[in-house]
Amino acid sequence: QKPGEEYDPLKGAWWDVNKETPYLHLARTFERVARTSSRIRTVELLSDMMRSILCRRDEDLLPALYLCSGQLAAAWEGIELGLGSRALSQALREATGASRSGMRSSYVRLGDIGDVAMEMRVSVRTIVQPKPLTVGSVYTILRQVATDKGTGSVQRKAALAKSLFIATRECEIRWITRMLVQNMRIGAVTKTILVALARAIVLERDPDAELEEATKAVVEAYSRCSSFDILCEILLKDGSWRNCLTDVPVRPGIPMKPQLGKITRDAGALLKRFEDAEVSCEMKYDGQRAQLHVLEDGSVRVFSRHLEDVTGRYNGVVPAVQCSLALSKVKTAILDAEIVAVDRAAENRLLPFQTLAARSSDKLDVCVMVFDLLYLNGRQLLNQSLMERRLLLLENFQFTPGEFCVVEEKTLRGEEDIMDWLQEAVKAGAEGLMCKALTGPLSTYEPALRSEGWAKMKKDYVEGLTGSLDLVPIAAWWGNGRKAGWLSPFLLACYNDGEFQSLCKVMSGYSDKQHQALTAFYKDGRMLPEKPPHYIVSRGLQPSVWLDACKVWEIKGADFTVSPVHLAAAGLVHEEKGISLRFPRFMEIRTDKSIEDATTAEEIAEMYHSQASMNPSRGIPGELQ
Ligand code: ATP
Repeated sequence: QKPGEEYDPLKGAWWDVNKETPYLHLARTFERVARTSSRIRTVELLSDMMRSILCRRDEDLLPALYLCSGQLAAAWEGIELGLGSRALSQALREATGASRSGMRSSYVRLGDIGDVAMEMRVSVRTIVQPKPLTVGSVYTILRQVATDKGTGSVQRKAALAKSLFIATRECEIRWITRMLVQNMRIGAVTKTILVALARAIVLERDPDAELEEATKAVVEAYSRCSSFDILCEILLKDGSWRNCLTDVPVRPGIPMKPQLGKITRDAGALLKRFEDAEVSCEMKYDGQRAQLHVLEDGSVRVFSRHLEDVTGRYNGVVPAVQCSLALSKVKTAILDAEIVAVDRAAENRLLPFQTLAARSSDKLDVCVMVFDLLYLNGRQLLNQSLMERRLLLLENFQFTPGEFCVVEEKTLRGEEDIMDWLQEAVKAGAEGLMCKALTGPLSTYEPALRSEGWAKMKKDYVEGLTGSLDLVPIAAWWGNGRKAGWLSPFLLACYNDGEFQSLCKVMSGYSDKQHQALTAFYKDGRMLPEKPPHYIVSRGLQPSVWLDACKVWEIKGADFTVSPVHLAAAGLVHEEKGISLRFPRFMEIRTDKSIEDATTAEEIAEMYHSQASMNPSRGIPGELQ
């Protein structure tokens, strides 16, 4: 028996077949999801909700997926609600009759505008009860809010929000409000929604199928073509997930989730991983990831690592791509690349990422460093080897130094050669190397995966020092003395499959001005009333406030130790104890990263081991117990 089969989707919900799905069905599901800290239970609840929709009205599935994800469309479609916080609270006040001061004090107490709305709704009074909200109507109205632009749109958007608030029942207002601020806080990231979707399709439409196989297919299809619209259309077409890998297209214009690399300790470990096969050691440039799409009409679109459309962000990029196509036979293509800032006056010397992030993009000279070709003239190339893809890249595009280049690489076999090349790369301004399998099973392109086929070697790792880490602030203490009223120190955590495990306290590295801005940022509604269950922090630490895990900070430190207080990577190095980072310093906020991109527990364990093997006198777990 499959898990969840005992659930009867027709009995499990209460409205008639063929009737529109009530929004209350979603809202009640969200309430239950919010109460659980178990990922498995979250998937079950979401999938049961989707199953009952599949039993009644297929067309409600797509809006339901969007409403679960807290988005109205894929990130690359650039659809924003555009309802400011002032207009939102005015709409809430008008709908509920709450006073400004009442709302403010409720907000200070609860820290979440959805919870505030829920508290306020008790006072809603209406003479004529509006029609109950449905999944379709809520989604349509929210799309109207988003698309309304121009004069008077602020008032019209607020009026639409108010109409939604007035029509809410039970807990619906909490979820409508959270949707309007685009922060659902149910921990349902896209992956969870996809897993739930696959489960719902299997249990309802294809009960003999292997759940695991179906889940893999659905997740993979979405990684190749990140669109709920297309995925739903194909899944619902013949009620099966079996065609999704063949039918969900890799399509220029729709971004694909980029492949990522796994860190590697040293050249020896790297060669072992590739079983002594030839390794293409590419320079790892310190810039911004970009997927470049050449569309049939000759236009070029640029997508970020998070699948946002950033075509207009860097001036020189689109002309550089178009120029490379001038005399070629390329009609359509998808390229994977890094955009790097360069100094034209100094022979296109590479500049660090900070330059790219800090300077306004129209004053910046950039070079597109292409490292992969994923699609060419109607054919996707993901299953070809890197060697084949690279040949096609070199044959079909023209390269211009300093503007549109293919990455510098060397194909190497020996440990020493790799180390020498790493030193050279670092001297030339690169961050390190990305070492990739050229042929064989590891050399295909794996969208969304941090795969074995790409190994990154940073200068820091090989020197045995701690490189920079990407950590998430999850809590803080109030500062004393000069720092009274500021948050100091902050508690930073690494990411471990949906959880945040504490790694270190950070109290330096920022200027006073930065420090005040960081405090103000969290004071502005990003403090939580209690510790969320997925924050893994030992009882010995009692922070003054818990923070919404919404930012990634780059942190540098001296080295790692096994810790009596912190729980990062607990169980990976030591049975119970975790790892902590000594002398951590704040470097910058990584606006290009989302919290799921933070350094993982596994990576920390790996860096810990690497440090222990470089310098056996420190960090051996046995000695530190
Ligand atoms: P980092 O914090 O070092 O940027 P990351 O977590 O962003 O790492 P990784 O998978 O570790 O991502 O490293 C891959 C990133 O390195 C890519 O997302 C890309 O932006 C960048 N990069 C630079 N040069 C290359 C290259 N030649 N091949 C692949 N990625 C490259």
